[in-house]
Amino acid sequence: MEQLIALEKRYCAENYAPLPVVLHSGAGAWLTDIHGRRYLDMMSAYSAVSFGHSHPRLVAALTAQARTLAVTSRAYYTDQLGPFLQRLCEMTGMPRALPMNTGAEAVETALKAARKWAYQVRGVAPDRAEVIVCAGNFAGRTTAIIGFSSEPQYRAGFGPFAPGFVTVPFGDAAALEAAITPNTAAFLVEPVQGEAGIIVPPPGYLAQCRAICSRHNVLLICDEVQTGLCRTGRLLACDHEGVRPDGLILGKALGGGLLPVSAFLAREDVMAVFTPGDHGSTFGGNPLACAVGFAALGLMQEEGLAARAQRLGDMLMTKLRRLRHPAIREVRGKGLLIGMELDPALVSARDFCERLMQHGVLSKDTHGTVVRLAPPLVVTEQEIDIAVAAFTAVLQEFDMAA
Ligand code: PLP
Repeated sequence: MEQLIALEKRYCAENYAPLPVVLHSGAGAWLTDIHGRRYLDMMSAYSAVSFGHSHPRLVAALTAQARTLAVTSRAYYTDQLGPFLQRLCEMTGMPRALPMNTGAEAVETALKAARKWAYQVRGVAPDRAEVIVCAGNFAGRTTAIIGFSSEPQYRAGFGPFAPGFVTVPFGDAAALEAAITPNTAAFLVEPVQGEAGIIVPPPGYLAQCRAICSRHNVLLICDEVQTGLCRTGRLLACDHEGVRPDGLILGKALGGGLLPVSAFLAREDVMAVFTPGDHGSTFGGNPLACAVGFAALGLMQEEGLAARAQRLGDMLMTKLRRLRHPAIREVRGKGLLIGMELDPALVSARDFCERLMQHGVLSKDTHGTVVRLAPPLVVTEQEIDIAVAAFTAVLQEFDMAA
């Protein structure tokens, strides 16, 4: 184990600080390390592995398509892209989709669409378009995206940044309305902020944002890379408030936990701004990705993963809220996207996660204060009890150490 960690440290850029475990295989909600020790996965690759590891149906779709045709580029039509996007659009109620690979690429796609729409449709003066974002946002790591991050570490040393972004507080609809100007193209928002530490806005926030954007003819673009595809107990987190955005960004679970697959979906008049040559990606919409995405969307419906996330998420949240400990500041979330905020003066979230690992549960801290829980949506009640027991054991350890 030490050797493999040393090898990774020797050759890989140190842009992550992994927990000291070397994983070898995974099945369902469980991961196994190179010594054969099993861990309950309460992270699911930052919500990408919603179906559990190597779901047999998804692996079957992947391997069958890999044997048939994997990558062609969009220079040609294929028999996989149309059916995949039809299913995606019909399920989400969005008329059109543009396939990409990673979440950040789909966010960049949304930003390009919003700007061009602003010039062509809203009549914003050339190069003046603005996109309103929220403090605490996370949308990936490209230079444009980190330019509107409010997290100093994500930005430090990577400037200069693209202009055209305005930041408002998250959860404050009045602040959004006050920030809109004749140059505003869009409001980009996560229905629940994931990386920021699972921040749930006040009830009604998204619906108010919808009304404000409609009133001012500004696009409401929801970044559901993390919250979408059943994670919060509905197909989309927007569905909790009956909100239909003008642009929708999906990623992570869209690839079934096997491949990077993302998409920007939008209203007809928004997507219509793209003409051949305006935008693209060598791998976006490749047959392999489409076959897996198609199967993943089908599985989501057949296995009722949204209802499952709601039921098990409520159960997990209730059980975590019953844990009484001075270090626990708050347990919050929606569906199976849950964060436990710890008092950093008493317990570091990183230390907490390392101890959870010793008890056979994998999680990851965010910002040093929040332990995140986003298990595969196929997790069982028994497995949730295993996770809660590990939390209890770790809290007791901190008591003994105090
Ligand atoms: N948007 C949100 C809300 C995310 O949580 C993430 C990743 O965590 C991204 C975008 C970026 O996705 P990717 O890491 O696939 O580029």
